[in-house]
Amino acid sequence: MSLLVMKFGGTSVATLDRIRRAAKRVGREVANGHDVIVIVSAMSGKTNELVGWVEETSPLFDAREYDAVVSSGEQVTAGLMALTLQEMDIPARSWAGWQVPVKTSSAHASARIEEIPTDNLNAKFDEGMKVAVVAGFQGISPEGRITTLGRGGSDTTAVAFAAAFDAIRCDIYTDVDGVYTTDPRISSKARKLDRIAFEEMLELASLGAKVLQTRSVELAMRYKVRLRVLSSFEEYDETAGTLVCDEDDIMESNVVSGVAFSRDEAKMTLLSVADRPGIAAAIFGPLANAGVNVDMIVQNISEDGRTDMTFSCPTNQVARAEQAMLDAKTAGDINYVELVADTEVCKVSVVGIGMRSHAGVAAQMFDALKAENINIKVITTSEIKISVLIDRKYLELAVQALHDSFDLDKTTLNEG
Ligand code: ADP
Ligand code: ASP
Ligand code: MG
Repeated sequence: MSLLVMKFGGTSVATLDRIRRAAKRVGREVANGHDVIVIVSAMSGKTNELVGWVEETSPLFDAREYDAVVSSGEQVTAGLMALTLQEMDIPARSWAGWQVPVKTSSAHASARIEEIPTDNLNAKFDEGMKVAVVAGFQGISPEGRITTLGRGGSDTTAVAFAAAFDAIRCDIYTDVDGVYTTDPRISSKARKLDRIAFEEMLELASLGAKVLQTRSVELAMRYKVRLRVLSSFEEYDETAGTLVCDEDDIMESNVVSGVAFSRDEAKMTLLSVADRPGIAAAIFGPLANAGVNVDMIVQNISEDGRTDMTFSCPTNQVARAEQAMLDAKTAGDINYVELVADTEVCKVSVVGIGMRSHAGVAAQMFDALKAENINIKVITTSEIKISVLIDRKYLELAVQALHDSFDLDKTTLNEG
């Protein structure tokens, strides 16, 4: 019996009507002879509401309780989806993460899936169940507590199940009909890609394209999962959506294949820290321990043995970062004059495997931004991406300018 994994995101299960619509699609795959594992997100907006309640109750919350609260959204949709399928005479049962069990690390709020035993679900499939509906985004820690996998984590649940159960494919149903050259909600010129390489998707996701959670792409790449992104609103056909695949399966590809952005970034600068061996460790150790996800780092030229250290992190972690630095200063581990937070910045990046063999992409990117009079505050590069930190008010303008500059609306790229 062939097994298919189908994941429905928040907008695809936002109402009972939409759950029925998604269930019909599942029903069609069952009629095609597949067993199906359905992974569901919480109804759209639900997780944000739950996170809001936690933050209002306790600003520097205990992550174990955060997980207890925010995991509940997926449990509701899993049960409703199973009931909807049963109403359609399709044998279905729901599972919360801990019941499977989806075993994870104990890094609450950003746990990693470590193992998914298959016996429980397989025993039910053997008894005639056709659809297992599993609550996405959650698991259980070695200590026996509920964990969650970080925002967008249901994608990762889906890919992990596809790998564990050796599924023929993992279909991610969402509110856009595939992966685009940039977020179609930002640029009307964004174009859908038929295929995208794992490496590129990985960069786009980690740089802010939330259409897939980064970890889900990592897992798909490692376990060779056939991963497809498609719309739950449009009529289905076999070639719908975007296939995330090996680089070798793409005939033509552009130097740059996408523009990603991350809106809520903060630029933090520690003014006048002692420039001595171990200073970076003394700063970034406590930040890591406080759960701050530091992204870009720049150390200025030092003068008279003192230097400025700049780093970026998500805006909602600024308070944590400030507290961690203050604690380190009070403990005498670091000494700085001031910590300046610029919370009005964003990060814009261009991504493409073609950059490996093509010079001049950075220059072209900086030219395009210059033409719009956009000042660059921090730059980082890697083999297949270039990122800049700029004022948030220029985000849309920068994305559009880069999309135009690299002709992303025009070329026929990423053909199979
Ligand atoms: P779901 O709830 O189904 O998981 P998400 O909101 O997490 O959906 O992800 C889908 C959204 O990702 C789209 O609505 C779109 O705005 C956004 N997005 C960002 N970058 C891209 C991109 N390059 N291609 C497609 N969608 C993108
Ligand atoms: N509901 C969770 C979130 O919004 C997980 C997901 O939808 O993937 O982040
Ligand atoms: Mg998502």
